[in-house]
Amino acid sequence: MKCKKCGSENVNVQVVTETKLKTKHHGIIYWLLIGWWLKPILWFFLTIPMLIIAIFRPKKQKLKQKQKSMSVCQSCGYKW
Ligand SMILES: [Zn+2]
Repeated sequence: MKCKKCGSENVNVQVVTETKLKTKHHGIIYWLLIGWWLKPILWFFLTIPMLIIAIFRPKKQKLKQKQKSMSVCQSCGYKW
């Protein structure tokens, strides 16, 4: 394994386990571009189905665990 930045062989590879509670939210760009008009329109046309879905839909929240290997160069500190 060579450092991508400085080419040093002195690279430490570590496995990082990330655990995060992830709630699905749309990003701010989504809301700026689409969210503010899409939701009212959807509600307007689909009020009743949306209500039913809103009542029965499970919460969009899940525990997400992902393993990530991270390499850290011991010479220059570059991470990737
Ligand atoms: Zn390096």
